Amino acid sequence: MKEISNIPLFIRYLKISALSLAILVWGAISPAAELNARHHLRIELIPDEARLIGKDDIAIKTSGSEALIFRLSERLTQIKVEVDGNPRDFNFRGGRLQINLEAREQNAEMRVSIFYAGIFDDPVPVRPVNADNPGYGVTGTISSKGTFLLAGAGWYPELIGSRPTYRLTVSAPAGLIAVTAGRSRGHVTENGKTVSDWEVDYPVRGLALSAARYVVEEKSVGKVTAATYLLPQNSHLAATYLSATSGYIALYSDLFGPYPFEKFAVVENFFPTGFGFPSYTLMGGSVLRLPFIVHTSLGHEIAHCWWGNGVYVDYDEGNWSEGLTSYVADYLYQEIQSAEAARDYRRQWLRNFSTLVRPQNDFALSRFQSRYDPVTKAIGYDKGAMVFHMIRRVIGEEAFWGSLRDIYRDRLFQPTSWSDLQRAFEIRGKRSLQNFFDQWVYRPGAPRFHVDVASTEKRGNEWKVDGRIMQEAPTYNFPLTLELKTGKQTITRKIEVSGPTTLFELTCDDSPLKLTADPADDILRWLYPSEIPPAVNALKSAASVLTILSDNLDPALEKAARTLALSLGLKHNRFVTEDQLNRQLLVENDILLIGYPRSKDLLKKIPPRVAIRQKSFSLDGSLFDKASDAFFGIFDHPYAENRIAALFMPLSSQYADIVAAKITHYGKYSYLIFQMGANRDKGFWPVESSPLVFKWPEKSE
Ligand SMILES: [Zn+2]
Repeated sequence: MKEISNIPLFIRYLKISALSLAILVWGAISPAAELNARHHLRIELIPDEARLIGKDDIAIKTSGSEALIFRLSERLTQIKVEVDGNPRDFNFRGGRLQINLEAREQNAEMRVSIFYAGIFDDPVPVRPVNADNPGYGVTGTISSKGTFLLAGAGWYPELIGSRPTYRLTVSAPAGLIAVTAGRSRGHVTENGKTVSDWEVDYPVRGLALSAARYVVEEKSVGKVTAATYLLPQNSHLAATYLSATSGYIALYSDLFGPYPFEKFAVVENFFPTGFGFPSYTLMGGSVLRLPFIVHTSLGHEIAHCWWGNGVYVDYDEGNWSEGLTSYVADYLYQEIQSAEAARDYRRQWLRNFSTLVRPQNDFALSRFQSRYDPVTKAIGYDKGAMVFHMIRRVIGEEAFWGSLRDIYRDRLFQPTSWSDLQRAFEIRGKRSLQNFFDQWVYRPGAPRFHVDVASTEKRGNEWKVDGRIMQEAPTYNFPLTLELKTGKQTITRKIEVSGPTTLFELTCDDSPLKLTADPADDILRWLYPSEIPPAVNALKSAASVLTILSDNLDPALEKAARTLALSLGLKHNRFVTEDQLNRQLLVENDILLIGYPRSKDLLKKIPPRVAIRQKSFSLDGSLFDKASDAFFGIFDHPYAENRIAALFMPLSSQYADIVAAKITHYGKYSYLIFQMGANRDKGFWPVESSPLVFKWPEKSE
């Protein structure tokens, strides 16, 4: 199957691998009966007092409205309102400011001025980034370290039901530069104050504001300005980010259509966030310094300028933007590298989905709003991305990328639903996708199926294979690739699967050896337990663990064992020594071995690729025998089905404690090798048996 025809186009821009941060999800705003509102917002920041003083002059055109209602933070005080220059009464309660309109004002042009002041002092965390909650619940803080005001913080009057545009002028102590959406009209310092001037002339769904002592760098990419707003200690990263930003803007402009904003800025936050806003991303300095961010999250956030911050999400039908962005960013970068990397990435989505999602926490993609834990990520991002992959395979390359261009051209800055996407894919794909969307988008779950071979017959010089795909209820319809290997050839066939049983017949001119259904992992499905290699995550979620300290263990390694148990967050963990073991204790628990055990039986399920000796270990023939080397692996339990065993074997105590604290970050891997405290190798055990693979005995008829 040809995977992608546009590849050569991408390669000139990027060489990349993947990971993702979250984008801020705006609350849904009703699109009905929109008012025109042009704000001229003037903000003065007083960081020493965590305070701002605001004045908003809003030119409004009403159309049959009896009242104007603004969202505004309950923390605000000293509120005054004027209408056309005259003081006006208003109601302010529960974060809503209401101005009742007189009859003559209900279809008119008018000028509303709102004066206010307020303290924003949410405590700011210093923990490292956690992409599941990009802002740690902080919505507004003004401090000498920096200013961070989210749209939802109510730091400016947001007229409900309007399509607002803004001129925003921020005045702050000299050197403090403010950044927001839109286009910079420059910043000037005069009389001890720095004034930053911004123009937002497209209707944004919410305005966020950041301010700090930024070093600003800019670069032109056609009509677009790439910019960095970095704190002095990280300003050396500017060139790298500017050049990567230009590359992504060029890539996605080619793929989807012209970049929708005048700038894209990489803005440093003074605490570790990972936000994507229209026309800029806000990341903590510790995040920006990670070498892979420029190859992963940055591209993801820029892709959101087309999907989510460009074409808006209609949240009533669920948020499709994370699935699509993951697909055209994180995933696409893998596909650019190789078909194998892309397949591995899809496989990881299937693993995430199959291990994290259960009937009791599953929900349809059309109900996904935003990510707040691993399950919502596995559905909204991973399953979502897989659904776009399947659409692409059903309607083909040209129709898929063409539909995305159509959607972008037709729906920029408009709330857009799964049904809007469906229509666009149907037009280009020239077929109904109703059944496709019903089963993948509006229904929770995924198919579970396996392959059966009923008979293999030799007729003259030909072999005939009769088989079937058996599907559990509820069943799905999907195209499935079958791959049949013989000693001489590989035959690929596509069949349409539907219902509990789908029969197929294959012929080949040599004795068949191996039949694989969905060899490239192109279909979202529940993996079978035998297809999921044991991984660190399995230990983390184990119900009860026995941590076994080997005989003759260096006492210094006991400390590392405790660090390991703690960092893995083991539940119901017991420490025992090897001589305290008995069979019953072993079979009732998952086990974590520390050091080289006296009883070799404990290691009998370690895959043959690994050899463990007293003072060394080897993987695939590579020997590790330095005192600073360490091995960690998860494998099948020696005595109990459906349980796991893990081995942590540092060859000395040198770096053992450092390594012990790191292992928890490699949740999806089966094995890890560390040298001098740094990870050197990691991977998965191969899947030995899969119900999607049928192997013929050596001599088949
Ligand atoms: Zn995202």
